[in-house]
Amino acid sequence: MSIIWQFFTVEDQSDTVAKCKLCLKGLRRGKFGCLPKDFSTSPLHKHMKSMHAVEYRKAEETALCEAKSRTEEKADTGPSGSVSKAEEADRYNSDDPGRKLQPEKVLGYQR
Ligand SMILES: [Zn+2]
Repeated sequence: MSIIWQFFTVEDQSDTVAKCKLCLKGLRRGKFGCLPKDFSTSPLHKHMKSMHAVEYRKAEETALCEAKSRTEEKADTGPSGSVSKAEEADRYNSDDPGRKLQPEKVLGYQR
């Protein structure tokens, strides 16, 4: 989801005009009558950069921070999840080497 939609609203998803929430100006996001797939947010970004640069930058920074905190949260749950998995793996490993290595050793000794 683009941060641009924090600042713009559309009455209809197929509406070519997006309304700026800050100055209530309507901005075309595509040629009149063009299909939603041809819509572009670049005019909206341009509008934000030229008209509401401060708000736009804040939103960008917030989005970045949220993205970071999300990845950090994921990273936090990831290691803790993988730690428990690693612990499980350790248990399995501590079991497995005994089960797997012994026959190998036996084979090795036998050979
Ligand atoms: Zn505006």
